[in-house]
Amino acid sequence: MINFEFTEKCYACSACAQVCPVKAISYDEELHPVVDLQKCIKCDGCERICIELNRPEKKNDMNCVASYVAKNKDEEIRKMSSSGGVFFQIAESILEIGGYVSGCIYDDSFMPKHVISNDIEVCKKMMGSKYVQSDLGKCITNMKRLVKEGKIVLFTGVPCQIAAVKRCIQNSNLITLAVVCHGSIERRIWQKYINEEIEMSKSPIIKVSMRDKTKGYLNYGLKFQFKDGTEHVTYRKQDGYFLKCFTDGLFERQRCLNCVYKGGNIKSDLLLGDAWGIEKMFPEFVDELGSSSVLILTQQGKEIFDKIAKSFEIKKIDSEIIIRNNPRIMLPSTKNVSQDKFKRKLNKSTTNIHVLSEKYAKPTILNRIKWKITKE
Ligand SMILES: Cc1cc2nc3c(=O)[nH]c(=O)nc-3n(C[C@H](O)[C@H](O)[C@H](O)COP(=O)(O)OP(=O)(O)OC[C@H]3O[C@@H](n4cnc5c(N)ncnc54)[C@H](O)[C@@H]3O)c2cc1C
Repeated sequence: MINFEFTEKCYACSACAQVCPVKAISYDEELHPVVDLQKCIKCDGCERICIELNRPEKKNDMNCVASYVAKNKDEEIRKMSSSGGVFFQIAESILEIGGYVSGCIYDDSFMPKHVISNDIEVCKKMMGSKYVQSDLGKCITNMKRLVKEGKIVLFTGVPCQIAAVKRCIQNSNLITLAVVCHGSIERRIWQKYINEEIEMSKSPIIKVSMRDKTKGYLNYGLKFQFKDGTEHVTYRKQDGYFLKCFTDGLFERQRCLNCVYKGGNIKSDLLLGDAWGIEKMFPEFVDELGSSSVLILTQQGKEIFDKIAKSFEIKKIDSEIIIRNNPRIMLPSTKNVSQDKFKRKLNKSTTNIHVLSEKYAKPTILNRIKWKITKE
């Protein structure tokens, strides 16, 4: 029976619950397993599938078949995407051959969850990064059934989710696309934040974007749209204190800080990320809507990308350069020295997360000195 320090070590991938033959495993708020001892038959299927208990050795070398920076020629697609709009083009090509796509959307309460669909409108909802741990729900079980029926299925997610899906499903009809991962935000933190947004606006949320590009790719915004027609947008380089706390590692799940699904342990067909650092090599390529780095890790990944390549402006680039410019491909982020204190404060029911984020992330003279000393 699965039992270890879940807060520190569980990837929250849901594989254990999906393989349990007696449905004895449910989840807590952070998607960590909760085992019903009355139902458990001690078959140990959960332990055999767990990607933490069966973690691979650290492997740095990545075998890249090809590597590019790319930006979608369709600017509307790029506006809706976090980087260069590669995911959507791949998803569309899978639907065109009668396949299904699994990816992350917001549920009715604006919590991220994975769904599987062959509907292009649902794939549009998968566009854009939701930087919060996503609930895979029953996706693994459903994908297993579809690939067995002979359907092509594209699974998209962060590298630990790819590892979990591939551990559960070994079938050549499964194609996998990973996004580079900085680490994801704890679900309870996001829940608290959106509750406060609703409280402040006094109107229900109808849409959220964590990577709004109105003020450009680098100064991206966290945008809430409300039923009464109002909006609340905070920008990364101005008052985007929540986004800054995220990129500075204050909201990150403990598990992400020691993630082993990095470098050579990323086992997807393709790996997409932001094309950081390309301004030095291809200044003419840089614009306000952003571009993607594309690492192709298998022959199957190459065939898929070659089919859609005409939809992009592309530059061939050495994979080593992409990897060097994007540290999160090889290594998890380091723990912010203030994280424990920050989370202790957050645990108090009276704490307002908007106020607390501002306190930590506003570039006041005091904070600037603190950041310099601690190199936060
Ligand atoms: C938690 C997280 C952290 C990230 N950290 C980095 C980083 O440090 N450096 C970097 O270069 N890139 C990072 N990315 C990836 C980047 O933001 C883009 O998603 C990626 O470059 C693909 O962009 P795109 O324009 O092609 O497509 P987009 O349309 O932006 O990509 C959408 C894809 O992201 C997936 N996705 C969205 N939210 C989640 C989620 N919560 N969990 C799993 N999958 C999700 C969707 O299923 C879909 O496949 C991160 C993404 C996530 C989700």
